[in-house]
Amino acid sequence: MYLVKKKKRLILFAIVAILISAMLWYYREKLSLFEEQPEKLRKLFLDATQITKVTWKLILTGVALSLIAVIIDLIALGWQKSGLRRLIIKPSGSAKIDLWSYFLSVFKIYEVLYFIFTLGIFYFFASIFSKFVDFKLANYISNVYLQFAFVFIVTDFKHYIGHRFMHIKPFWELHAYHHSAEEFNLLTTTRGHLVEAGIYYVFTGFFFAVLGVPIINIFWVYAFREMYQYLLHADVNWKLGFIGKYILISPAAHKLHHSIDEKHYNKNYSTFFIWWDLIFGTYEAPNEEYKIGIIDNPYNKVGFFEGQWIGFKRFLKF
Ligand SMILES: [Zn+2]
Ligand SMILES: [Zn+2]
Repeated sequence: MYLVKKKKRLILFAIVAILISAMLWYYREKLSLFEEQPEKLRKLFLDATQITKVTWKLILTGVALSLIAVIIDLIALGWQKSGLRRLIIKPSGSAKIDLWSYFLSVFKIYEVLYFIFTLGIFYFFASIFSKFVDFKLANYISNVYLQFAFVFIVTDFKHYIGHRFMHIKPFWELHAYHHSAEEFNLLTTTRGHLVEAGIYYVFTGFFFAVLGVPIINIFWVYAFREMYQYLLHADVNWKLGFIGKYILISPAAHKLHHSIDEKHYNKNYSTFFIWWDLIFGTYEAPNEEYKIGIIDNPYNKVGFFEGQWIGFKRFLKF
């Protein structure tokens, strides 16, 4: 009886969400605060946050980046221990969720889903930022390489702040979906809650409005970062020596971030450069094998969408 009620509520929620989203989408030009903006900036912002422009080129780039990571992982670990083997031969509950997340994100269905799931609310928040926060800081740097470095570093800092923010309750309840992975297999990086993606969307929109970065820069920043995110979620346990101490956060250090043990909570938030953890005192050097996951973890026993719903309910409870 309870299950039937739960299902009905879920269907009702989905119908309302789809209707409101469709309406907002249909009237987006009229409602949008972009209208008074120069066409160029509007296009730049939309492309950067990838909500309107899903091209085959973008999808193929995503697939190519993950394939490169798969090959590196295979060379490093060999077939028996590889992430690829764990994903295709008798995948665990955790790996199945990662596979779902990967396909939804690489084909950009995630973007459509979080638009529906969040009733398009974040889209409008982001559009407000693009109207009122239009500093175009990157344009003050004329050298294209320096501009790239600037955008890359600021974007990485944005990820650090965003990540720390998501570890605060009640937002943690959404981010816990990413941490609910019980194994690393590369694709774990794509596992995330749809509402969390919506929050990041606003956050990214704000930063890109401040930076005013050229498309080509955003593309390469995206490609570099994306590639590294797969490797951070490979079960390689690399500490990367000198680089892992002073330049990049290593896969072993990110595994510590995912540790189920309470004593490792709030450590290693960096997702590319290690500097942010070093500056803000949140770094802890990895020195053992960590068991990863969260306590009270229903997410790998249920399907992708049910898990999303559970995470959403937990988020609203606080
Ligand atoms: Zn985290
Ligand atoms: Zn992670």
